[in-house]
Amino acid sequence: MLERFLDKTSFSSQEDFMQNFKVKVPENFNFGYDVVDEWARIAPDKQALLWTNDRGERIDFTFADIKRESDKTAAYFQSLGIGHGDMVMLILKRRFEFWFSIIALHKLGAVCIPATHLLTEKDIIYRCNAADIKAIVACGDEIVLGHINRARPESPSLQHCISIGPIVPEGWDDFHRGIESAAPFVRPEHPNSNDDISLLYFTSGTTGEPKMVAHDFTYPLGHIITGSFWHNLHEGSLHLTLADTGWGKAVWGKLYGQWIAGANVFVYDFEKFKPADVLDMIHNYHITSFCAPPTVFRFLIREDLSKYDLSSLQYCTIAGEALNPKVYEEWLRLTGIKLMEGFGQTETTLTIATYPWVEPKPGSMGIRNPQYDIDLLTADGRSAEEGEQGQIVIRTDHGKPLGLFKEYYRDPEKTREAYHDNIYYTGDVAWRDEDGYFWFVGRADDVIKSSGYRIGPFEVESALMTHPAVVECAVTGVPDEIRGQLVKATIVLSAAYKEKAGEALIKEIQDHVKRVTAPYKYPRVIEFVDELPKTISGKIRRVEIRDKDNKSSK
Ligand code: ATP
Ligand code: MG
Repeated sequence: MLERFLDKTSFSSQEDFMQNFKVKVPENFNFGYDVVDEWARIAPDKQALLWTNDRGERIDFTFADIKRESDKTAAYFQSLGIGHGDMVMLILKRRFEFWFSIIALHKLGAVCIPATHLLTEKDIIYRCNAADIKAIVACGDEIVLGHINRARPESPSLQHCISIGPIVPEGWDDFHRGIESAAPFVRPEHPNSNDDISLLYFTSGTTGEPKMVAHDFTYPLGHIITGSFWHNLHEGSLHLTLADTGWGKAVWGKLYGQWIAGANVFVYDFEKFKPADVLDMIHNYHITSFCAPPTVFRFLIREDLSKYDLSSLQYCTIAGEALNPKVYEEWLRLTGIKLMEGFGQTETTLTIATYPWVEPKPGSMGIRNPQYDIDLLTADGRSAEEGEQGQIVIRTDHGKPLGLFKEYYRDPEKTREAYHDNIYYTGDVAWRDEDGYFWFVGRADDVIKSSGYRIGPFEVESALMTHPAVVECAVTGVPDEIRGQLVKATIVLSAAYKEKAGEALIKEIQDHVKRVTAPYKYPRVIEFVDELPKTISGKIRRVEIRDKDNKSSK
C-alpha cells in the first residue's frame, strides 16, 4: 500500500528522509475507497481492528469486514439523505461503530465531526448550530442520549439522532437495524475533491474553549509519517494509541497512518481506566507498538512491571505534552525501550518527531518533518538563532503542506489570528540545537516573565521531576509587584512524601531545583495538591492554576 503513495518507502538517515520523502497525492483522494477498499481487494483477510472491552468481549475485524460494514453504514446514511458536505457528529467513545461510521462518511463525501461523550446539552446546542449538524450518531449511554435529547428542540438543523444501542429512545433511529435493512450501497459518482472538508475536530481545550479545526480529504496522507515513520508500523504490527475517538489524537493513532501502513489497530473500550490496564493489554494481546501522552508513562513507571510479560512490545511513542527526561530514563531502565517523542497539534499532523533512524535526546521532541517548513520566530519577528527561543511556526510560501488544517470552521477571525501572511503560528515556544533537534520551552502563554528572565515551565518541571517526592507538577507564573511574576510549582507528592508536606520539604525541593538547573528558575512558591487540573485527555491545564492565582491576588 505504501508504494501507492511513496516512491521511496524506506529511509536510512535523516538526510535521506529530508531529500527523498515525497507523498504522491491522487486526485480526489478518498481514504475509504483508496485505502480501506483497496486493502479489502488485495488482502481481504488482513487484520484491521482488534476490538476488546472491559467485559472481556473481543471482535477481530479484517479489511473485508470494515469494507462491508462501512458500505452498509454508508447505504444507511444515504437512505437518510446524508451526502456530500453534510455534517454528521459521532459521539461513539471507543465503540467499533466509530470506524464503520467515519469510513462511511468519507465514502459519501460528508463531513465527520468526532466529539467527546462529555459534551453537555449546552455544548451540543452550540455545536449543532455552529456547524449546522444534520445527524448525530451516539452510543446508547443514558447520559449522552439525555444531553442530546434535551439539545434537540434548540438545534433546528438536526434531523436524525441515531443510537448504536443498547438504548434506542423514542424518536431515535436504531443504527444496527438501519444498516442491516439498508439497500445495497451505491457509490456516489463524485464523492469529493481533495480540498473539500472531510473532518472537523475540536482541539483539546488546554488553553480555553476548544476550537473547531477543519481538515480536507488529503489529511490522512499527512499521517503516513505518523504511522510508518514515527510509530514505526509495518504489516503485522499491533498498535495501541490511548485516545478517545472524540479527540484528534484518535485519527493520529487509531486509523489513517496505521491502516496505510497495513498495521492492526488495537482498541480497548472501557468505562473506567487505570494506567496499569495498559500493561495487562500489552501482556495479554502482545501489542507491538504503543503511544500515549506523558502522563500515562509518569504513572506506568511507578507500577511493578515485573508482573507483566512485555516482551512483545518493540516501540513506544509519546506526544501531546512535553516528556520529562526522568520519565524517558526510567522507562528505558525498566523496559529497554526508548520513548520516541513527537510534536504536533489538532491543526497539523506530526510536525517534529524522533524517527527510527534518529537517536533520541531525552527532553527533545526530535527533528522536523520534511513536509513542514518549520521555523522559530523570536518576539521581534526574526528567525531564532541556534539555542535561541522562538515560537514554532510553519511557513507556507511554497504551498500548504499535507495535513495542515484548512481553517477554524466559520471563524475567519481566529483563523487569521493564527495563520496570516503565509505563516501558521503554533503558539508553542522551542529552541533548536546544533543538530537540528527541537527542545520544547512551553506554550507561548505559559512562558513566565520574571525579573527580566523568560522562563519556560517545562525545564523547571523536568528539574522538579528528578526529586523523589514529585509525581507530577505544573509550573506557572503568579503575579508579583517587584518581579512581575514569580515561578510557582504546584506539586502532587508521592505516597511516601505526603506526610512530610511542609516548610522543610518546600526548602528541600527548592534547593534541589537550584542544584539541577540555573538557580534563577527555582520556584519561589510551592503548593502541594492531590491532583492537577487536566483536560480529559490528560493534559495539564496550567491556565486553570493561573486563573485561580490571579483571582486570589486581586
Ligand atoms: P487548545 O488548543 O484547545 O488549548 P491543545 O492545544 O492542547 O488545546 P491539541 O491540538 O490536542 O490541543 O494539542 C496540541 C498541543 O499539545 C501543542 O500545541 C503543544 O502545546 C502540545 N504538545 C503536543 N506534543 C507535544 C510535545 N511533544 N511536547 C510538548 N508539547 C506538546
Ligand atoms: Mg492548541
